[in-house]
Amino acid sequence: MIQVCNPATGGSVGSVWCAGASDFARAAAAAREAQKAWAAVRFSERSEIVRRFHDLVLDQHDHILDTIQSETGKARRDAFSEIVSVAGTARYYLAHGAGHLSDRHRDAAVPAFTEAEIVYKPYSLVGLITPWNYPFLLSIGDAIPALLSGNAVIVKPSELTPLSADLARRLMIEAGLNPNLLVMLHGPGDVGAELIRHVDYLGFTGGTSTGRKVAVAAAERLIPFSLELGGKNPMIVLEGAALDDAAAGLIAGAFANTGQACIGVERVYVQDSIFEAFTRRVVEKAASLKIGWSKDWDVDMGSLISTAHAQKVSGHIEQARLSGAKVLTGGRSRVDLGPAFVEPTILTDVPSSADVSRQETFGPVVSIYAVPNADEAIRRANESEFGLNASIWTGDGRQSHIIARRLETGSAAINSTLLIYNSFAVPMGGVKLSGIGRRHGEQGILRYTQAQSIVSSVQSHGGYDALLSYLDRPSRANLLVKILRLWRKIGL
Ligand code: NDP
Repeated sequence: MIQVCNPATGGSVGSVWCAGASDFARAAAAAREAQKAWAAVRFSERSEIVRRFHDLVLDQHDHILDTIQSETGKARRDAFSEIVSVAGTARYYLAHGAGHLSDRHRDAAVPAFTEAEIVYKPYSLVGLITPWNYPFLLSIGDAIPALLSGNAVIVKPSELTPLSADLARRLMIEAGLNPNLLVMLHGPGDVGAELIRHVDYLGFTGGTSTGRKVAVAAAERLIPFSLELGGKNPMIVLEGAALDDAAAGLIAGAFANTGQACIGVERVYVQDSIFEAFTRRVVEKAASLKIGWSKDWDVDMGSLISTAHAQKVSGHIEQARLSGAKVLTGGRSRVDLGPAFVEPTILTDVPSSADVSRQETFGPVVSIYAVPNADEAIRRANESEFGLNASIWTGDGRQSHIIARRLETGSAAINSTLLIYNSFAVPMGGVKLSGIGRRHGEQGILRYTQAQSIVSSVQSHGGYDALLSYLDRPSRANLLVKILRLWRKIGL
């Protein structure tokens, strides 16, 4: 059994069974059997279940929020953001999934005589390994397009947060899904490793070091995979930016979900002429945030996920302080509030030797640096082994777009920090050590399918293969050369 605790209080909130190898074998066999019928039904039938699931999520949002909060200790608003993103993912794929999955006609080898089309077929069994920071969203959000494209799914949620994942599955079954098509198997990392032995496609969301191990295991089986990994996301604020808006954006970007958001801001490059004015605003806002544990809506920032993680976050702050960084606000552990609380923390003068300047902290800590101009801000922003998300505030839309294109990240948000996650129509993912592959948009559903190309010579009565036999003298070869030249000119 795995005992689940509320990190905000240390109290026990439930337990789940830890899966063994035989559970995987059984679940995979049942899922593959159920998937055959599931792949054969029309998209509209599959989407009807997802539509009912969407409505159930909204109907039962209070119960879902209680469950998420109970095992993460996060603020209710942060839990609510999971509901918004799950509903948005379902809504997007209900509206666009059929279009993304539809067959596509393509240029034929010989126009008018042959045909070519692509059809998208499900892999069969998709495996998802998910982290604890958004346990409801990440266990079901990526499963929705996998199911809609005709796959069965087995999820291995984080052992710290299994209850939200189980609840998501219960709602999907209540919406009408065959229980064998979506299974949650719980346990620590080695249970995730077992999952990889059974599935045809693996979607992993988690830390970069685990992502490497997962990639090796998937490569050994030659199964395709995607990795949604960590970040050290930069924000750029230049002269002309609306400083109150940018400061509010940073508070959301750095402290939402207690700073445990893969796309959250951890470092800010501010033009030196506005550094003092911007920093003052941010410090005022951060210092007034209400932190604590409550199921009421008035708490701004909740607990970190565990005491171990709180110690890692505090360690980053302490090491930065000892190496010369200034703590402008926050910086303290708040054991008076619970075992894993750390104050929202703003640092400046952080030396490049400090871990917090390069490694992902994944907590409520942000470092602000003064830079002379946009070029230097871009250079520093790109000076990272990560490349997930970035945020740009300049007050000039054109300049912001130019900067966005120069940033080495999978996404860039202008006048926002976290907008990318709920922009469901565009792909989201990382470059460099932040990942491989994309969720959302067309790519987020086609990744669960294999493209099969069907080409046909029906129009020419099977004549395509016989074409070469006509090339039995130079004049015919020369004629073909003329046709090829003309063809290129026409551009067909
Ligand atoms: P981890 O990498 O520690 O764990 C992620 C999942 O992998 C968990 O379910 C974990 O199990 C499992 N796992 C651990 N070891 C193995 C293994 N050897 N083989 C297979 N599975 C394994 O990440 P965290 O849970 O700590 O999550 C935080 C990280 O996730 C941060 O780096 C964050 O940036 C990233 N993240 C990225 C997102 C993105 O979209 N790019 C979104 C959200 C988070 P268990 O925990 O039970 O041991």
